[in-house]
Amino acid sequence: MSFESSIPESVLVPFAPGSVWLAGSGPGDPGLLTLLALQGLRQADVIVHDALVAERIMALASPSARLEFAGKRGGRPSAHQDDITNRLIELAKEGHRVLRLKGGDPFVFGRGGEEAQALAAHGIPFRIVPGITSGIAGPAYAGIPATHRDTNQAVILATGHSLGGGPDWRALAATKAPLILYMGWKALPTIAAELMAGGLSADTPVGVVTEATTANQKSLVTSLGTCVADLAASGLEPPAIIVIGEMVRLRPALDWLPGQMALQNARENNG
Ligand code: SAH
Repeated sequence: MSFESSIPESVLVPFAPGSVWLAGSGPGDPGLLTLLALQGLRQADVIVHDALVAERIMALASPSARLEFAGKRGGRPSAHQDDITNRLIELAKEGHRVLRLKGGDPFVFGRGGEEAQALAAHGIPFRIVPGITSGIAGPAYAGIPATHRDTNQAVILATGHSLGGGPDWRALAATKAPLILYMGWKALPTIAAELMAGGLSADTPVGVVTEATTANQKSLVTSLGTCVADLAASGLEPPAIIVIGEMVRLRPALDWLPGQMALQNARENNG
């Protein structure tokens, strides 16, 4: 099946040679790709992707596309950000259709802004393709809504990565708005302590979702006072989204994924 025939005509966007699409792949489930990201995967000559882009998504790339790994993962030796942007510029100048594919949304803690600035500075035409961010979709796949009228009228997306100083946790705690933490795993002891020092109670519910929206998704509900010990004892591993706030209490009734998996298994077993 040609890719054009699989995409409704009203949403077809041609990928111009010599340009870059800076796209989000969503959190892992290929069903959460946007139609534009799928078109990027089907039309690109070169795909420069991150470690966080799921294998099942890379499998959707056109067979003729060249894949380049630009993995950057906390703590491990990794490509330098400047090397990645220089590579994007070089590939575009060579006339390729370059898909820069990132996990989640490229403009949410993904350094997509920096890459776009570099492309703009070099006069490379580019398109931003937003993706479904893990901070919203991850909790949703664990039955935790980002907002609910009964619990919160605001929500804070924050990074636990302290490069660039990190947020003022006590000031964030003072807002009483729930937090959705990206890259919060390593610094959680400090973050939890600071949030409590800033006035959040130790029994504030905490929901952790690892490898969200993939077949390996796991989750855990704990509290601000016990989350560090519970997480250490859990055997869970990052990448994780950590939700701190009352909406985590809604999970027991809204945890829909196990039921859907059961339905799917039943269908498969019945042939
Ligand atoms: N741009 C991405 C975030 C990149 S920062 C987005 O919008 O989702 C990397 C962090 O994102 C990870 O440390 C983790 O906190 C989170 N993350 C990304 N994918 C995830 C997934 N499938 N499950 C849980 N956390 C995820």
